[in-house]
Amino acid sequence: MTAISGWGRYPIIDTELIGPRTTEAIVRATEQGDQAVARGNGRAYGDAAVGVRQTITMTHLNRMRAFDHATGQVTVEAGVLLSDLIAAFLPRGFFPYVVPGTSFITVGGAIAADVHGKNHHGEGGFGRYVETLLLALPTGEVVRASRKDHPDLLQATIGGMGLTGSILEATIQLRRVETGWIRQRTMVANNLAAAIAALDGNESVTYSVAWIDCLAKGASLGRSLIFLGEHAASNQLDERQFANRFPLRKPPLSVPIDMPSFALNHWSVAAFNELYFRAGARKAGSSILVPAAPYFFPLDALGNWNRIYGRRGFVQHQCVLPAKNAEAALADMLGRIARRGGSSFLAVLKKLGEASGGLSFPMPGYTLALDFPIGRDLFSFLDELDVLVVKAGGRLYLAKDARQSRATFDAGYADLSGFRDVRRTIDPTGKIKSRLAARLGI
Ligand SMILES: Cc1cc2nc3c(=O)[nH]c(=O)nc-3n(C[C@H](O)[C@H](O)[C@H](O)COP(=O)(O)OP(=O)(O)OC[C@H]3O[C@@H](n4cnc5c(N)ncnc54)[C@H](O)[C@@H]3O)c2cc1C
Repeated sequence: MTAISGWGRYPIIDTELIGPRTTEAIVRATEQGDQAVARGNGRAYGDAAVGVRQTITMTHLNRMRAFDHATGQVTVEAGVLLSDLIAAFLPRGFFPYVVPGTSFITVGGAIAADVHGKNHHGEGGFGRYVETLLLALPTGEVVRASRKDHPDLLQATIGGMGLTGSILEATIQLRRVETGWIRQRTMVANNLAAAIAALDGNESVTYSVAWIDCLAKGASLGRSLIFLGEHAASNQLDERQFANRFPLRKPPLSVPIDMPSFALNHWSVAAFNELYFRAGARKAGSSILVPAAPYFFPLDALGNWNRIYGRRGFVQHQCVLPAKNAEAALADMLGRIARRGGSSFLAVLKKLGEASGGLSFPMPGYTLALDFPIGRDLFSFLDELDVLVVKAGGRLYLAKDARQSRATFDAGYADLSGFRDVRRTIDPTGKIKSRLAARLGI
């Protein structure tokens, strides 16, 4: 048995960790699974990628198989990291359509969580760009699913959190880009209503995200920096930038030890937020060019940054709220967070569009993501936030979840009959079971 966790380092769970080195071995491990689930690079925060008894790691399946320059379609094994995909294809003028806030995730993990980026409002989630996938089922079969063949299986696997089988390989559509630079414009929003208005008013911009200062109160509640972005064209680069048209990521620095829990407190976070807000506000209005990596993955510059939260770990609370109820519910949540003074280092607000398959998280509305170090009274406080989310008709993101109740899950993901039918057909004896699935009764 091995003790593993997700990125939040909570909960830590004993599991039999299986690391098959070949496709055939993964097919066998899935067929012989004893309450098992596939695991990518372990970037889901909670217990989604930990099997009740067995966990099948997919990171040995890391070969890129084929690329068609004319169509921009690439076929890769499921354990390939987005960072490797970008390193291989950005210099050729291609970039994934959807990237989350870290590039250190596998293609299998990106499909299973149907990850969203800063462009979900206009371009949807990762699953939209999956042409076909090869899936190992608990029956021992290997099925190629596409929009034409086995569309139900494709639909259930996108956002299916690993609960339909082990994704072995996928063909995905990449986007053509002229450069690896992003034209970024920063806006200041002095309160929540202004932040929502800025995201709504810039819907035609490809990428948008608001960083919220969670400690601001009163008339400044929800004050934010809004970051807008577009892929830069070649003729928008100066000579020096043009000479480095596809800048590559620098190797990350590391957090060498677990930080003591007092390092992140009300005062240190307040000081950070104030400095960050002022520095951003100074840049507001003008456009700057930034390399894609720091624009999309600022936290990747610091390896193991999850150690900043100390040994006890942390949880992320990420909800989505339907547009019509979002502002009131967000104001209530942010008010409670500001009054509690609980060090939420990261607070990110994004606009989301239509949902896709499986247990896919997005719905048209706004998503707020907050990190909280684990401490006294945290879970009862998060239960309070869940009540507001459910009342507003929203739900929590399973890839970030470590603690929501079944009642919160059932209320948020009410329409799961199609997903459950697929599960019953392909896994009648219950070989696939993650800790998340067991906790939430999926
Ligand atoms: C810093 C940071 C920022 C993030 N930002 C975002 C964001 O902006 N948007 C967003 O949507 N997410 C975001 N995430 C979450 C992350 O993108 C997802 O949790 C993603 O699924 C992690 O991929 P992984 O390869 O690490 O998979 P894991 O964490 O190992 O697994 C995640 C899920 O995928 C399943 N899975 C993995 N591989 C396979 C496979 N081959 N076959 C079947 N199932 C599989 C697992 O069973 C599990 O349910 C962020 C995470 C971090 C740490």
